[in-house]
Amino acid sequence: MAQKRVLIIEDSPETQQLLAELVLEPSGYRPIAALNGEDGLQIALDEPPDLIILDMQLPKMSGIAVLEALQQRDVDIPVIFTTIRESPELIVQAFRLGARDYVIKPFDPQEMQEAIQRAFATARVHEERDQLTQQLQRQLQELNAVYAIGRSVTSLLDLNRVLNRVVEAAVYMTDAEEGMLLLLDDESGELYLRAAKGIDEKAVRSLRVRVDDSTAGRALRTDRPVLLTGEQAKVSTGYLVKALLYLPLRAPERGGIGVLGVVNRETGRPFSERDIFLLSALADYAAIAIENARLFEAAEVERAKLEAVLQEAQGVIIVVDENDKVLLCNTAARAALNLAETDLLRHPIGEAIPYPSLREMFAQVRETEKATHSEVPLKDGRTFNAQITPIEGVGRVLVMQDITHLKELDRIKSEFVATVSHDLRTPLTTIQGYIELLPRVGPLNEQQQEFILRARESIETITELISDLLDIGRIEAGFDLEMTSCDLGQVIEEIVGEFRPRAEHKKQELHWQPSETLLLVQGNPNRLRQVMDNLLGNAIKYTQEGGRISVSASEDTGHIVVHVADNGLGIHHTQQPYIFDKFYRVESDETADIKGTGLGLAIVKAVIEKHNGRVWVESKPGIGSVFSFVLPSLEA
Ligand code: ADP
Repeated sequence: MAQKRVLIIEDSPETQQLLAELVLEPSGYRPIAALNGEDGLQIALDEPPDLIILDMQLPKMSGIAVLEALQQRDVDIPVIFTTIRESPELIVQAFRLGARDYVIKPFDPQEMQEAIQRAFATARVHEERDQLTQQLQRQLQELNAVYAIGRSVTSLLDLNRVLNRVVEAAVYMTDAEEGMLLLLDDESGELYLRAAKGIDEKAVRSLRVRVDDSTAGRALRTDRPVLLTGEQAKVSTGYLVKALLYLPLRAPERGGIGVLGVVNRETGRPFSERDIFLLSALADYAAIAIENARLFEAAEVERAKLEAVLQEAQGVIIVVDENDKVLLCNTAARAALNLAETDLLRHPIGEAIPYPSLREMFAQVRETEKATHSEVPLKDGRTFNAQITPIEGVGRVLVMQDITHLKELDRIKSEFVATVSHDLRTPLTTIQGYIELLPRVGPLNEQQQEFILRARESIETITELISDLLDIGRIEAGFDLEMTSCDLGQVIEEIVGEFRPRAEHKKQELHWQPSETLLLVQGNPNRLRQVMDNLLGNAIKYTQEGGRISVSASEDTGHIVVHVADNGLGIHHTQQPYIFDKFYRVESDETADIKGTGLGLAIVKAVIEKHNGRVWVESKPGIGSVFSFVLPSLEA
């Protein structure tokens, strides 16, 4: 170890000599003398000694001034000062300026020796502490770098950018010459080079290795870092590499997905434990980022496919988010609603669609969170069937199909039926007339009377059918619908009265509690009678002997609600959606003998809808049915 140099700044040659001969030299230190402050400072700056013994009272420059000058210049040499006065201010001032120890003059050599030893010991401790701090600071910087890189990598969603940034970071952090990122091809079980830095193009493209017999594969197989140096590295990779470090990349759900590697080809500088530590931290971030980017890419591809399908689908499709802002409006929708030139994306549906009926439907679904459907006539004369369905997490989707041709067919059919029905009436009346005349023109035997009865029954059925058909035609066309203010309670009362004998005949209990208040609606009394007639008639028809039927009506927040309940046959839920269709009859052993045209409920529905109301059924086979309708009430 080199001899330690001690600078003595002291104006007394005797003290200089005493220190040199009795203190420093015996301990193996080399004394350097300065007889005033200025010279001492100069030497301290030019050839920094290991220790300074500084007298406080000096010519040219005081001891305090020397300490100040040293501190200003950031010179960190341990200083022991000597003084004749034990002045607290002076001592405090000197310590503040960085002095380590002091000795009062006159001192004996032993005292100074001990002070010197203490100063060197503290200096060592200081040095070690500084080294440790430096080391900690470096580690902190490295960790900060890993963290910053990790954050920047995980925030990326573009796979290529993620991969390139990871490799760049790996090279930068380990100070390597080359870096590479190999991903696992699940199908072939091979690792292929996906991103690289510093490696030449040809090598990049051809690098494809098997997991089970390659060094990179070993990292993945064993789930541990592979660190090789010198010959080992060269032999293992087959090309001129002097040091390498491979780390497995593991994604939380999928396990091993690839390998991150750094290589030194020229310098041969080996990689260290520290490199493993840093690269492992990076590999963890990288694996998550790669997986995120992959998932995002896959989701993006699927989304794009789906959007293409929806865009080009024949049906009209509009998707809005939870706040009714347009997310998608396909080509068919733009064409149908005449929105070709408008930029709709992210615009509120209320502004985007020029059809109040559709806007109201959206508002209704938003409020009720239930799907709804309706027919929507467009300005160009076409009619669409529109359904809006709420979709959790997305918003609402409108789908519309063009049903103009079906509406036209329906109209032609209704017209045809009405014409035919009308034309059938005259010959039927004639047949009925002649049948009535038969008994008057001569006596009939029993069999002839039986045949006449059957013919009459059939004529009644046909007449009923024709009258129902004509009725429904007229209702749908809006004929015979003069509206007046009428009391629904009164209508029900009359019909219940008319049906009482029929119910009694079947020994059924018919219950009706008249309402105490008027149940006023704006309606056509004849048609409303027809509604009650059909509902009550059905309840009696489809309820066995001894059953119970009850009718109720009440006012509820601006509406009149009527229920006709029975404990009869009931209707299976699969058939309930169709019973309001024309000619639909439930076919079963129990209903086989019950006569009907299948038009009663269709008439009910048509009438109620013409009155701006709604009709529905709740029913269970074997338990019974409740038919209900609601009409807007007319404030009395
Ligand atoms: P129908 O002339 O056949 O009675 P409707 O249109 O009135 O025709 O009724 C359609 C079908 O609905 C009936 O055939 C019957 O099967 C069923 N239906 C109607 N009302 C009831 C009821 N109260 N209980 C059980 N089934 C009923």
